[in-house]
Amino acid sequence: MNIHIFTIFPEIFASPLGAGIFKRAAEEERATVEIHNIRFFTHDRHHTVDDSPYGGGAGMVFKPEPVFEAVESIREKIKQTTPERTIPIILLSPQGRLLTQEIALELSREPVLFLICGHYEGVDERIAEDLATDSISIGDYVLSGGELPALVLTDAMLRLVPGVLGSPESPIDESHSTGLLEYPQYTRPPEFRGKKVPEVLLSGNHAEIAKWRRKQAIIRTWKRRPDMLARAGLSDKENEFVKQLQQPEEMV
Ligand code: SAM
Repeated sequence: MNIHIFTIFPEIFASPLGAGIFKRAAEEERATVEIHNIRFFTHDRHHTVDDSPYGGGAGMVFKPEPVFEAVESIREKIKQTTPERTIPIILLSPQGRLLTQEIALELSREPVLFLICGHYEGVDERIAEDLATDSISIGDYVLSGGELPALVLTDAMLRLVPGVLGSPESPIDESHSTGLLEYPQYTRPPEFRGKKVPEVLLSGNHAEIAKWRRKQAIIRTWKRRPDMLARAGLSDKENEFVKQLQQPEEMV
């Protein structure tokens, strides 16, 4: 997978891309992330990327020319290896479709992706309408730029690219992959400050462990994110179990 990120703050990416999942994906040759500075695609002395909004109002808006030019220039450059129609061009925006695990999985299957990071008051609407093919929001709040959202989206996608995570099972059981929140996890020591690891996890009985984990995942989801249960594909028996649950004092 090759991800191309378009930004006016390339320096924001230096540290995150040099560590963790980003570094690992590059080292394993599973993915590349290339950062493109939109300012390099301006033609005036000051490398102007923004201008005041027509109609007045606070803040500045990204001009269309440098963003179109940046995207089109990179698209032209990689044309030989990637037919144009296969490249989704995603604008990071608080107005986009809300990022979910399903969307991360869908996008992680794309061989090439372009991500455009806005800034200031946002971008000229023609970028959203005529250049971007999709728009993603990472949550119902407003950040000052699309750089952190682009990193969030990239992290969520990369860990779903086969071979990037150490264990192929890791993403399968995780919160949101099964439609449920993940069950509680423990590691050594078996007792810490008087609190013991549930006996079943030390039993070595894999069938019982799987049953316990499923039940815990249902309980946890019911307590913390009941809205997810309707879409979780529970069996009749599990739905019956949910009906019997009583809200306890403490969160699991
Ligand atoms: N004025 C815009 C609005 O009300 O929709 C918000 C602009 S925001 C200050 C600047 C940039 O940050 C956006 O163009 C977008 O790229 C990015 N951004 C901010 N919040 C975001 C979010 N929740 N998800 C994705 N991108 C976001």
